[in-house]
Amino acid sequence: MSLIPQNLQAITSTIVATAQDVGRAPQSVQLLAVSKTFGPEAVLEAVQAGQRAFGENYLQEGVDKIKALQAAGAPALEWHFIGPIQSNKTRPIAEHFDWVHTVEREKIAQRLSEQRPEGMAPLQICLQVNISGEASKSGVAPDELAALAHKVAALPNLTLRGLMAIPEPAEDFAQQRAAFAQLRVLYEQLRADGLALDTLSMGMSADMRAAIVEGATIVRVGSAIFGSRNYNKA
Ligand SMILES: *Cc1c(COP(=O)(O)O)cnc(C)c1O
Repeated sequence: MSLIPQNLQAITSTIVATAQDVGRAPQSVQLLAVSKTFGPEAVLEAVQAGQRAFGENYLQEGVDKIKALQAAGAPALEWHFIGPIQSNKTRPIAEHFDWVHTVEREKIAQRLSEQRPEGMAPLQICLQVNISGEASKSGVAPDELAALAHKVAALPNLTLRGLMAIPEPAEDFAQQRAAFAQLRVLYEQLRADGLALDTLSMGMSADMRAAIVEGATIVRVGSAIFGSRNYNKA
């Protein structure tokens, strides 16, 4: 028997308990189920358990899954692209996804805005920030963030919602919190600077509690819902 429904329930309980511990409303934290490498059947099980928002890292796999779920008659789902973006692959992202968490360059944002089909809602955007310095190669540098944010916020078919980061893995809770706190500070600075942001996408299976304590509004959880990933099969 699949563990997906009970895993979803356990994670939801953790989200609620952690938010309440720090005086946050539990509904202020959205669970994004990261379904990369898992097939449409696994997504459908999560849908049947009430989950509606899913994250995908690999473009072709994600688009195939979106179509498969539509064909299976699933209710309306919210799809988030959370993988690295190649500039020649922006069109299918603009055409099929509701959110993109991994924008780190103006050129990519411009293309997504230009390629967003007419009649669709604006694409919801988070800027990925490199808060761990040298170690991680993805994300805009903190000192270049404000300039990028103002440019992206001005693009017509995008709505800039907030920031995303993938800190270096840390075992220690205080260390996990310190990384997420850096992202929160950058987010508060942009808000103070007049940008209407409401989203902090941070925290995965191993560090989502620390992220919630530091203000995460979306936690991106994969293996704790779907089990460990087998990249060879994907
Ligand atoms: C894979 C992935 C996740 C989920 O990671 P888990 O450790 O399985 O929870 C979250 N965010 C991003 C960007 C990912 O690539």
